Amino acid sequence: FSLRENPVIEIPHVRWKDVGGLESTIQELREMVLFPIRHADKFKQFGMSPSTGVLLYGPPGTGKTLLAKAMASECGLNFLSVKGPELLSMWFGESEANIRKLFDQARAAAPCIVFFDELDSLAKPRGSRMGDSGASDRVLNQLLVEMDGINARKNVFVIGATNRPDQIDPALLRPGRFDRLIHIALPDEAARFSILKAILRLRPGASLTGFLAETDLQWLARKTPGFSGADLMGVCRRSLELCIQSLGEGNGVKRQWQAIAHSKDLSTITREHLE
Ligand code: ATP
Repeated sequence: FSLRENPVIEIPHVRWKDVGGLESTIQELREMVLFPIRHADKFKQFGMSPSTGVLLYGPPGTGKTLLAKAMASECGLNFLSVKGPELLSMWFGESEANIRKLFDQARAAAPCIVFFDELDSLAKPRGSRMGDSGASDRVLNQLLVEMDGINARKNVFVIGATNRPDQIDPALLRPGRFDRLIHIALPDEAARFSILKAILRLRPGASLTGFLAETDLQWLARKTPGFSGADLMGVCRRSLELCIQSLGEGNGVKRQWQAIAHSKDLSTITREHLE
C-alpha cells in the first residue's frame, strides 16, 4: 500500500497564537467547524446538512497547514493529514481503496479534521489530463463519493489545500463538498509583523525578542514584501543562529537582520557577509 498503514492520528500542539496575520480566516474556520458540531440537533431538526469541507488556496508557505493544525488542537479534534500524491498508487484500484480507507479511519477517529495537502493531485479537472486510462477519473469519483457520504461521516471535517485552485475539478467544489474557498494570500506588512511576533514567541531562544524591539520587527516587516510566513520563519531561524554566534556583540544583531532581509536567498548569507 502506498498509503502508510497507519497514518498518524494526533491532536497537534499548534495554538491560535502561533498563527500570525490570519485573524479573520481563523474566525471563519472556527465558525464553520464548531458551529455544526455544537448545534448538530438544530441542523437535523431543520433538515440541513452542515458544511463539511473547505478549500484553502494560495501560494506555498502561507500557513495553510499551520491553520489546519491549530484548528484541530484548539477545538480538541483529532487530526489526520495526508498529501494527495501519497494516496496515489500505480496498481489498479488501489488509489481509490486508499481514499476509502482514509475516510474510514477519519470516521473511526471522529470528531476529526482530515487535511488534504496538494489536493489538486487527486482532483484534476476532467478533460485536462491525458493518457491515464481513466485512473484519475476513478480517484476523483471516489473522492466525490466520500465527500457526499457526509451525513454518514459524523463530525468529520475536511480541509483541502492547494496552490492551484484552477487545477481542481469543479465537481469537487459544489455545495456539500468543498463548498467554501478561502484565499490565503502572501502576508502584507501588518500581517508580516504579526507573523514575526508569533514566530519569535515560539523560539526556544525567546530572548531574541528581548534583543529586538517591536520597532525592529516593524522594520523587518517593512523590508520583506513578497515573503511568505515560511520565508519569515527562515529569516528568524537564520538570524537566531547568527545571534547565537555573535552574542555579546550587542547592536550587531540589527545589522544582521538587515542583511538577511535584503537577500531572500537565505542560504547565501554568511557571517562574513554581515561584517
Ligand atoms: P504549502 O503550500 O507549501 O504546503 P502551507 O501554506 O501549508 O505551505 P505551512 O506549512 O503552514 O504553509 O507553513 C510553513 C511554516 O511557515 C510553518 O510551519 C510556520 O513555521 C511558518 N508560517 C507560515 N505561515 C505562517 C503564519 N501565518 N504564522 C506563523 N507562522 C507561519
